[in-house]
Amino acid sequence: MVGVLTSCRDDSDGAAAVATEGSAAAAGGARPSVVVTTNILGDVVSEVLGDQAAVEVIMPLGSAPHDFAASARQAEAMTRADLLVVNGAGFEEGLLGVIDSAGEAGAPVFSFAEQVDLLEFTGEHDEHEEDGEDDEEAEHDEQAEGSDDPHIWTDPSRMAQAVAAFAERAGELDGVDAGVIESQAAAYVEELDDLDAEIEDLLADVPSERRVLVTNHEVFGYFADRYDLEVIGAVIPSLTTNASVSAADIEALAGLIRERGMPAIFGETTQPTQLAEALASEVGDGVEVVELFAESLGEDGSGAETYIGMMSLNAERIGGALA
Ligand SMILES: [Zn+2]
Repeated sequence: MVGVLTSCRDDSDGAAAVATEGSAAAAGGARPSVVVTTNILGDVVSEVLGDQAAVEVIMPLGSAPHDFAASARQAEAMTRADLLVVNGAGFEEGLLGVIDSAGEAGAPVFSFAEQVDLLEFTGEHDEHEEDGEDDEEAEHDEQAEGSDDPHIWTDPSRMAQAVAAFAERAGELDGVDAGVIESQAAAYVEELDDLDAEIEDLLADVPSERRVLVTNHEVFGYFADRYDLEVIGAVIPSLTTNASVSAADIEALAGLIRERGMPAIFGETTQPTQLAEALASEVGDGVEVVELFAESLGEDGSGAETYIGMMSLNAERIGGALA
């Protein structure tokens, strides 16, 4: 599909220059091309658009999204898209340059993160804030300035809001039936509402003193915010997997896990598990490493082939490990 689109445009260089304004649909009655950075959003966007657009997903299954860099062909597809859909809030670190230049070249960019209230992460957890003096010191600490957390998909209620906004924007594309998109979006939002209730059920048996998470990096902030959990630390103490970890960090976190009697550390499928395993062996006491589909959908048969499947599977694993 994309190959056809590209060669069609290569045949008419003059028309391609105008194509930033006119869409593929306007040019030849074809469906508009919607290019999506992450495979999680690729699934969501495909559910909303159905057969109304040709959807291309940039990041393959299992790729690490903070690092992922586009091929020349993918960069071209992003630049020529009738709509480029991104997670945003700095999530796609390896694609920032391509997203910026695609936007400058006239590709309309839709950011999911821009549709919802973002949480801020300061690099500090509650333990540190209980002490008044630390709090004052933290205000002068560069690290405490805070960054917007981009991992919004871990909260299905925020995703539902973003989906509604996306459907409205997608309905403006040339060659689509806005009514069809609107009703597909409404049906999907209902599924997201069901997912939200299902996750709450899956976590219902976890007692309040065990509603704490240690994750591989700071990826489940919105999930914790939505379902009354507390992230007390991360193996990589950062919003990105592109951050370093010191032996002292691991030792301090191991102490905290022992102190709280936590049964599990949550790894993620798109990152090596060595650091989480190292933390687990530092803790001892049979703490287990439970893998979650945090930043990519899973292969066929994983149960995480779709956004809804992935979220439900994660909740089942978290609920099972903590209850
Ligand atoms: Zn991340």
